[in-house]
Amino acid sequence: MKQLISDFLHLIYPNVCLVCHGNLLAKEQFVCFSCLSRLSYTSYHLQKENPIEKRFWGKFPVEHATSLFFFQKETPSQLLLHHLKYKGDKEIGEVLGRMLGETIKAAPDFEVDLIIPVPLHPKKLQKRGYNQSEWIAKGIASALQKPMDTEHLIRVIENPTQTKKGVYERWENASGIFALTHPHSLEGKHLLLVDDVITTGATIEACANTLLEAADVKISVASLATA
Ligand SMILES: [Zn+2]
Repeated sequence: MKQLISDFLHLIYPNVCLVCHGNLLAKEQFVCFSCLSRLSYTSYHLQKENPIEKRFWGKFPVEHATSLFFFQKETPSQLLLHHLKYKGDKEIGEVLGRMLGETIKAAPDFEVDLIIPVPLHPKKLQKRGYNQSEWIAKGIASALQKPMDTEHLIRVIENPTQTKKGVYERWENASGIFALTHPHSLEGKHLLLVDDVITTGATIEACANTLLEAADVKISVASLATA
């Protein structure tokens, strides 16, 4: 009920913070600075061999990997991701994506050519109306002044809707879920793969292994949150 009232209030008063419902200042969008400061930031962009990078060791060659903040239940991180993914507040992805992009800009040697969001299957995209990872990628692209690409990496097989986690992971690791449309146009580029949350990293791994079908590509990874 509390959530219902909150969502309703947000419809009428879009200028209040999604998290605390306080009035937003002119420079604030969707979430106030005070709530943003309560997120638990990882600082992984400054840490070589951080836990996100290590998650991909032995799976595919990863240049850099980072997440902006830790996902924690009952904190603003959970609420923000929920709004981004299920409540239609796609713009929050761009706001937080820009913050993530600024951290990447501040990281030593973290230079990429092209930003690629984890794609949704067309059916899922139609159902949700937007790809949340694409909105995050959009924010990163604007901070880094680099192009975003949503054409070349596509999802060809839909998620199974109800499966146990372990089954899902094995399934996600199987090849053939993602595909490249024109591998030649990615050749020689350093690609930044973008997702909303990294947990096991299985989705990123499946995407990366597909992108590696293009010649001489390097792969880095960024997500808003990590569990
Ligand atoms: Zn707030």
